[in-house]
Amino acid sequence: MTILSHRSYRSGEVHEAEVVVVGTGAGGAVVGTELAEAGRDVLFVEEGGYHPTSSFNPYLTESIPRLYRDAGGTIILGRPPIPYAEGRCVGGSTVVNGGMTWRPPEAVLAEWERITKQPDLGPKGMGALFDHVEARIHAKLQHPSTIGRDSLLLREGAERLGWRYDENRRAQDRCVGSNQCITGCPTGAKQSTLVSYMPHALERGARCLTEVRVHSLWIEGGRCVGVLGKAVNPLTRDEDIDIRVRAKAVVVACGAVQTPFLLLGHRLGRRSGQLGRNFLCHPNTKVVAIYPDDIHAWKGVSQAGQIREFRDEGILMAENAVPPGTAAAQVPFLGQEAIDLMRRYNAMAMTGVLVEDSHAGSVSRRFGAPMARYTITKYDHARFLRGVRYLATLHFEMGAEKVILPFSNFHVAESIDDLGRIEQTQRSRSTIELFTVHMMGTCRMGSRPDYSVVNLDGELWDLPGCYVADASLFPTAVGVNPQVTIMALATRVARRLRVPN
Ligand SMILES: Cc1cc2nc3c(=O)[nH]c(=O)nc-3n(C[C@H](O)[C@H](O)[C@H](O)COP(=O)(O)OP(=O)(O)OC[C@H]3O[C@@H](n4cnc5c(N)ncnc54)[C@H](O)[C@@H]3O)c2cc1C
Repeated sequence: MTILSHRSYRSGEVHEAEVVVVGTGAGGAVVGTELAEAGRDVLFVEEGGYHPTSSFNPYLTESIPRLYRDAGGTIILGRPPIPYAEGRCVGGSTVVNGGMTWRPPEAVLAEWERITKQPDLGPKGMGALFDHVEARIHAKLQHPSTIGRDSLLLREGAERLGWRYDENRRAQDRCVGSNQCITGCPTGAKQSTLVSYMPHALERGARCLTEVRVHSLWIEGGRCVGVLGKAVNPLTRDEDIDIRVRAKAVVVACGAVQTPFLLLGHRLGRRSGQLGRNFLCHPNTKVVAIYPDDIHAWKGVSQAGQIREFRDEGILMAENAVPPGTAAAQVPFLGQEAIDLMRRYNAMAMTGVLVEDSHAGSVSRRFGAPMARYTITKYDHARFLRGVRYLATLHFEMGAEKVILPFSNFHVAESIDDLGRIEQTQRSRSTIELFTVHMMGTCRMGSRPDYSVVNLDGELWDLPGCYVADASLFPTAVGVNPQVTIMALATRVARRLRVPN
């Protein structure tokens, strides 16, 4: 098993492979593993480090900077600004994600089929890819013994209100519900690509250069023939050693922000003007209820299910317990009031509302860094306000003492009657606090070079030999947790990728 890290690199070295895959997350690990299993000589290049299951721990000050880009503190500019988080380690965001595995609604795939004129991107065609991916990541329902009281409370609330509640299938094999997904699964049950795909690729001879950030593509005679990067010292984050990888085909799978950032460095995508556009981010907001009795939201799996009653309006609601440190950073109080609230941590039900994108933002290159921009529309804002009201209503129906709202000018609802003030006080889009972990769409796939960035094989229209296989590929928003769709598309890219002799 060859996993190299910063200390093993020598300046000027040129690594060679048939296919180089940049990124080892939901897209990269899948495309690389499928290719390695098909007999290709694959070399992964990953900016983050290799952190095996045995190294995971719940201490945020250690785990977050180690596993997340910029310690999870990156931001999308807009109204309101939206903080976002993405993984930076072998396994990418799948190492820190919640493991939910939702296929897109049929209508979304029917639209993909219509736009691309490709039956295999429609509901029927994609079905086989989803079956394949879900088998590899053991997508299944939770064992009832692993479901915590906060999830049960949400389910009971939905039943009381006559709302549809669906259990989540999750990528897990014998999950015990330790609820530490966001700092890396301590038992290895969550089937991140670190434990599901990557070991198979490495067994088949694939190699992985970790702690290397790719800065540019190696282009010769109009064809992509490799990547150029720098080794990153994991302690200082200084970039010191030049790394070059030469390959017959290059796959970029750095995620929907970093992939367009890398490609924009070469002024690619000029034919369509679409590179970095169509940035979708499926934003969410939090609603925290305080109950009279302890709930112990930290016991039991994060998100055993979702309220999908309002899916047709593009609104999903779910439980999402976070550790005390994360919760404390988000409470809208200071001093004694914040301390008093945090003393009630065990009585908190931490829940949230996700709203499907109704429009798109963009990712551009500014001052050597990616700049993501996205502003919610008035329509999205209205859906957020509705979603918050629905969820807060559920909590009051279930006996919550009070509900902490995600608005900078209206923090707490003490009763169901207070919820009437949401629409009155929330006239501006700037007063809602949003967050996201679902970035997508910046190199969309399509059948026409004037409309899309990559063709239906995932290859850039204007750079032969360079493929994309990550969340950037989505032709439109999916309105659900995206990982299995990314994995399905990455599998498809692997099957269609051509390696010249
Ligand atoms: C906290 C959290 C919870 C989530 N929960 C869920 C969930 O429950 N269900 C779900 O479906 N989705 C969830 N998601 C989203 C899902 O994990 C992502 O959509 C998915 O992993 C994205 O896949 P990707 O391949 O596009 O990018 P990633 O998985 O982010 O992988 C990109 C990789 O590329 C590497 N990279 C980036 N730039 C470079 C460079 N220049 N050089 C070298 N390497 C580079 C990164 O370090 C990273 O490892 C969650 C995400 C987060 C952060």
